[in-house]
Amino acid sequence: MSGPGGNGTDREFGDGDEAAAREAVRAAGVELVETGLVDGTWGNISVRLGGDRMVITPSGRDYRSLGAADMVVVDLRTADASGGKPSTEAPMHRSLYLARPALGAVVHTHSAAASTVAAARREVPAVLDDFVQVVGPSLRVADYALPGSGRMTRVVVRAMAGRMACLLANHGAVAAGRSLPEALLCARMLEKGCRSFIEAEFLGGAVPLHPVEAWAMHQVFLHKYSRTARGGRR
Ligand SMILES: [Zn+2]
Repeated sequence: MSGPGGNGTDREFGDGDEAAAREAVRAAGVELVETGLVDGTWGNISVRLGGDRMVITPSGRDYRSLGAADMVVVDLRTADASGGKPSTEAPMHRSLYLARPALGAVVHTHSAAASTVAAARREVPAVLDDFVQVVGPSLRVADYALPGSGRMTRVVVRAMAGRMACLLANHGAVAAGRSLPEALLCARMLEKGCRSFIEAEFLGGAVPLHPVEAWAMHQVFLHKYSRTARGGRR
């Protein structure tokens, strides 16, 4: 199967696009704050840069105070960072890029509804069409792990198998995409799906879509809509 990122020639940011990737991550951070998905310094964003690097937000800085030059470049193979101290969750981002060659961007948030479901450690079933298309047939909860730990990298990759997102038990959420616009869309859909799930449970219980239909809808999104969903080179 071929697809975006499969051969290194169809990426949003190639090896020579570091400046554009830095600016895209900076702008995405501001967008996350403005849309209420992150507060202050909680959360982090990365994009894949060419074949073996990523650009990620720095550790413990308010997104609104960051410039493109503050972003940190991390080698995916060695974990060496240049240009500053990367987010403490950099190992989680790195492990996702290594495990999933098609992923081009990863967004970690502590958004409100996702955090509530993560606290209850409930897997969100296929509650809404749009949620299912972008996120996948369900939103699993990765087992609890200390932020930044090696265990965190393993539980997240496992929980995201066949999906573009997962919850982190008692912590927050991770959303991914083949491009940064797709990962941001996934973060919004994830939060919407969690909120609908919580409220549907209060209305007598969420009624999920059939698992096969949910799986098929996600596959259609990944294949049929791949070009338009990926946005384009910035
Ligand atoms: Zn976090």
